[in-house]
Amino acid sequence: MFREMRRNRQALGQKECEAVLERGSFGVLAVAGDDGYPYAVPLSYVYQKEKLYFHCAKSGHKLDALARNPKASFCVVDQDEVVPEKYTTYFRSVIVFGKVRILEEEKEKWEAAECLALKYCPEEGEEGRNTEIRNFWESLCMLELSVEHMSGKEAKELKQ
Ligand SMILES: Cc1cc2nc3c(=O)[nH]c(=O)nc-3n(C[C@H](O)[C@H](O)[C@H](O)COP(=O)(O)OP(=O)(O)OC[C@H]3O[C@@H](n4cnc5c(N)ncnc54)[C@H](O)[C@@H]3O)c2cc1C
Repeated sequence: MFREMRRNRQALGQKECEAVLERGSFGVLAVAGDDGYPYAVPLSYVYQKEKLYFHCAKSGHKLDALARNPKASFCVVDQDEVVPEKYTTYFRSVIVFGKVRILEEEKEKWEAAECLALKYCPEEGEEGRNTEIRNFWESLCMLELSVEHMSGKEAKELKQ
């Protein structure tokens, strides 16, 4: 059911898509929001083995939306270089589709939190990281998006 890219000469391969997800520091999670309005919310994330992990509070608009409908998409923009003289931008982006679930089990929640911390605070030692996770544990919600479909696209000028 997922669509093919119309301009598929601009498509990125799986490895290139994954490299974009690994480089990115945030993306925009799109969910089915209130009253038929899509809700697109920027979030930090970490990508690992065809899953994306997010942290958030235990309530709010996105969680209400995901409780009604776990289907989501997530977009990461890798590059957007404006080239005024060509009326274009040299862009590269990835869009992922999948379903999101809350990690309820302690071990999986901890591992996801650890993975996120390692991405964003790579210099932190294990003890500091564990303390930080423990401090936020009770109020922390960890989400997992399982990738069902992933596409990447870049400006044709970036194609080699
Ligand atoms: C680069 C970046 C990274 C972020 N990383 C994280 C993260 O890893 N975890 C996390 O929990 N939050 C993160 N945030 C904040 C995030 O975008 C949301 O504000 C937050 O997750 C609360 O979402 P919610 O749906 O529960 O908000 P709610 O407060 O329930 O949303 C209610 C309404 O507030 C408005 N709103 C909410 N968030 C935003 C926003 N960011 N900008 C404008 N209007 C908004 C919308 O109109 C929304 O309908 C990040 C923000 C940015 C810009």
